[in-house]
Amino acid sequence: MKQGSGLPVFPGVAIGPAVVYRKAQQEMPVACGDAAVEQKKFEDACAEAKRQLSDLFEKAKKELGEEKAAIVEVQMLMLEDLDYLESVQAEISAGAAAATAALECGESMAQIFAGLDDEYMKARAADIRDVSQRVSSILCGGGGFQLPEGNFILVAEDLAPSETIQLPREHILAFVTQQGSSSSHTAILARTLNIPSLVQSDIALEDAQNCHIFAVDGFTGTWYADPDVETLAVLKQKQDEAAAGRAALEAYRGRKSITKSGKQVLLCANIGSPKDAEAAMKGDAEGVGLMRSEFLYLGRDSLPTEEELFTAYRQVAEIMKGRPVVIRTLDIGADKQADYLNLPAEENPALGLRGLRICLTREDIFRPQLRAIYRASAYGSLSIMFPMVASVWELRRAKALCASVRRELTDQGYPLGEVPIGVMVETPAAAVQAEALALEADFFSVGTNDLTQYTLAVDRQNANLGEFYDPYHPAVLGLLGHIAKCAKAAGIWAGICGELGADPKLTETFIQMGYTELSMAPGRILETRKLVCESEV
Ligand code: PEP
Ligand code: MG
Repeated sequence: MKQGSGLPVFPGVAIGPAVVYRKAQQEMPVACGDAAVEQKKFEDACAEAKRQLSDLFEKAKKELGEEKAAIVEVQMLMLEDLDYLESVQAEISAGAAAATAALECGESMAQIFAGLDDEYMKARAADIRDVSQRVSSILCGGGGFQLPEGNFILVAEDLAPSETIQLPREHILAFVTQQGSSSSHTAILARTLNIPSLVQSDIALEDAQNCHIFAVDGFTGTWYADPDVETLAVLKQKQDEAAAGRAALEAYRGRKSITKSGKQVLLCANIGSPKDAEAAMKGDAEGVGLMRSEFLYLGRDSLPTEEELFTAYRQVAEIMKGRPVVIRTLDIGADKQADYLNLPAEENPALGLRGLRICLTREDIFRPQLRAIYRASAYGSLSIMFPMVASVWELRRAKALCASVRRELTDQGYPLGEVPIGVMVETPAAAVQAEALALEADFFSVGTNDLTQYTLAVDRQNANLGEFYDPYHPAVLGLLGHIAKCAKAAGIWAGICGELGADPKLTETFIQMGYTELSMAPGRILETRKLVCESEV
């Protein structure tokens, strides 16, 4: 048995096989100098890519049906396309490394397809890119992981949001990563999925790879590779106790969240997709306080269409059956990158072109999203919320765009619901200016993850900053009090949707400050309701 520790981000115990997720090497290998060797590497990589695609085809056929799976078949055909194979061969003969040739020839072909008039052929550009990137990634040492049968514990150096979005979530029992922080998006996903997880762990990927059984104790922050019989028995007992604790919380299902003195709060869920909305309902959420809409844009090769977005928002609205749903507009940038947007590389992405800043500079991206939200508003109770607001003019400009989209849709005859517009308060500037913003917003929701990062100038992703990332810092709590006061004075509601919203040590404090909504991972709702109902405040 080997064991070690990490920072627990969600309690619980998981036991199962470990699967190691490895990132592809970022650096392109250089040519070895022998074209025949490079050519052989390319052919082997194509064979491996075909094998992977054939697995994917079978999976897609089962889960999505034959018609959708055909996309994968098209990608497999490209690996037999003579134009592609011959152009790669020519580049290799001219001295290029196999990985570079595979990627560059794929890109040239993709550009030709992207320039065609026929919409279907145009759309094939993304498939061509996808296949050539797959071949190149295999030549770079491979990325991703082999999917086992059944459920497993995922062990990785770190996971980017664009990677987590592609994971088979229903099969993951726990995450263990070497990097990450408690407010990183891997931790947020673990909480959404209700699975015990450790970040900043001292696990060696080889130890996870070579063991038969792996276990995670999210209560103590311990991992075990091949736990011995006694340890396994203790872990299983903890699992049973946790299940009993969850069963006891069922007494709070369907109840209102009201303190003993009569203060009511709405306990809502944070979600990223229609599937998460189902988890929200299962968790007994009274609404969705934060839909991280950017997850609909990650893990893919092109922008989602207005129609795709509309379908997703409509699904969420319908699943939530009239309960309020706050959709945060696209918050891409920083750790959430979509390569196809071709945004310029930045030295300080957390302070760069992200969130509302992208939307205000790229109407071609923002308008379709707003149209989709407004169209879906006829099917439930939707609100819009803007992320990363720092100035009043930004809110005004975004609201003007909303008004213009609304007019356009009304003229086109679409039925629309009422759609309140709120500000996500997550920059110190927005917090300090809460009084002015409250006059122009219908509600506030505080993003404590970023508010802590920006107030304390501490990178939320940086695993080495540990205790310096302190959401209990008086500066952060002072801003939280100020925001609630300004909201109350303006007669608007204020909520908290950062990770602090589920912190049991602060539930009473937030209610006393005047917050009337707390939004959190679906699995935290019943325990928070118990706290609220037992509270005297
Ligand atoms: C936040 O910043 O607190 C928040 C809820 O948004 P995200 O974690 O997606 O940045
Ligand atoms: Mg944020």
